[in-house]
Amino acid sequence: MLFPMSPKVVELKRRLENFMDRHIYPNEVRFYREAEELGPWKGYPVVEELKPLARAEGLWNLFLPESSHGAGLTNLEYAPLCEVMGRSHLAPEVFNCSAPDTGNMEVLERYGTEADKDRWLKPLLAGEIRSCFAMTEPAVASSDATNIESSIVRDGDHYVINGRKWYTTNATDPRCKICIFMGKTDPDNPDRHKQQSMILVPMDTPGIEVKRPLPVFGFYGVPDRASEVVFTNVRVPKENILLGEGRGFEIAQGRLGPGRIHHCMRLIGLAERTLEKMCRRVRSWVAFGKPVSEQTVTQERIAEARIMIEQARLLTLNAAYAMDTVGNKVAKAEIAMIKVAVPNMACQIIDWAIQAHGGGGTSNDFGLTQAYATARLLRLADGPDEVHRNQIARFELKKYSNA
Ligand SMILES: Cc1cc2nc3c(=O)[nH]c(=O)nc-3n(C[C@H](O)[C@H](O)[C@H](O)COP(=O)(O)OP(=O)(O)OC[C@H]3O[C@@H](n4cnc5c(N)ncnc54)[C@H](O)[C@@H]3O)c2cc1C
Repeated sequence: MLFPMSPKVVELKRRLENFMDRHIYPNEVRFYREAEELGPWKGYPVVEELKPLARAEGLWNLFLPESSHGAGLTNLEYAPLCEVMGRSHLAPEVFNCSAPDTGNMEVLERYGTEADKDRWLKPLLAGEIRSCFAMTEPAVASSDATNIESSIVRDGDHYVINGRKWYTTNATDPRCKICIFMGKTDPDNPDRHKQQSMILVPMDTPGIEVKRPLPVFGFYGVPDRASEVVFTNVRVPKENILLGEGRGFEIAQGRLGPGRIHHCMRLIGLAERTLEKMCRRVRSWVAFGKPVSEQTVTQERIAEARIMIEQARLLTLNAAYAMDTVGNKVAKAEIAMIKVAVPNMACQIIDWAIQAHGGGGTSNDFGLTQAYATARLLRLADGPDEVHRNQIARFELKKYSNA
């Protein structure tokens, strides 16, 4: 096997799988029911009940690399563990490994001051609060982040923030206490990549209005708490700026690399579980005198799904290895490749599984609709496919710059 797991990771994976069997899978129906009944403006009791159990078993903050706070795993070591968590929508938050908190914690860990870490990183690492990341705006094409129009203006010892954001995941969650906000401090800078900054904005600051939750394919809360948020003359101390004015892009690059690979690792787990569901269903389901599993079209799809998962996993492990060995910046092409390949792979496999389940596949009873929503949104979130493909093509063409 390429990329064999170390004994430490094998042991963590065994414990994680055991926890999933005891606590995650048996509580999924309750989780979906709570999300439906309580909606996006509430936390879900099942999550809060399970978090202390995961923490007590040492299955907590496994995502944090080279840190005194987490398990200190490399990306390559974390990959198979994150994949296990990705099998269920309930799991990542229970293990304090869910987006966008993980990315935000990494930003605080890397770029926050000691005071920021005390005030925000510690409670995030303890799972006491949640966070959001506000970059995307409804008024402009935000996949080109140089378009972003929100303003961050210095006024004495403060910055004043104005702007309208959407798809700010987590903002409706009552436990969401801190926002990492991206806006322009220097809109006239001739270097468009130096115009933006990131700043910490406590969610209880006057002038913040969480306008509405945004459904993802009709789902609120799970799989995502996307929200629209308006910031009007929001004042925060000047010390809240991260790394300094004009460094927003630099931070975004640092944040998005690990965030993207975690999404891909989780989606591989989701695709594996979906294939399992599909195989179980078609073996037990008889149509026109024989199990659906004996139709060659079903077998073709199952075989293709297995090939696609293995390809995606190898590509993701390769990206993890590159990030660990040459750094997130140099591993840009590898990260862009998995960000295109993995959500598309997952979408296709979930689509086949829905088909194999017949009309029931489109209900919420089998977890396939939520799975599809997750995979499909990840062809957009953290950058649409086209933008990543453009980047890959640019890297490729650069090789022929002298041709
Ligand atoms: C459920 C969900 C959760 C999200 N969570 C967050 C969050 O927490 N914080 C946050 O800030 N954002 C979040 N996002 C926003 C996400 O990152 C953006 O939707 C994404 O970056 C695309 O930006 P946009 O929506 O403005 O699309 P646009 O920039 O308007 O692009 C629209 C389309 O144009 C096409 N296009 C764009 N550029 C190119 C190109 N170069 N070549 C070819 N075609 C192109 C693509 O098809 C693209 O999908 C989330 C999105 C979703 C769906």
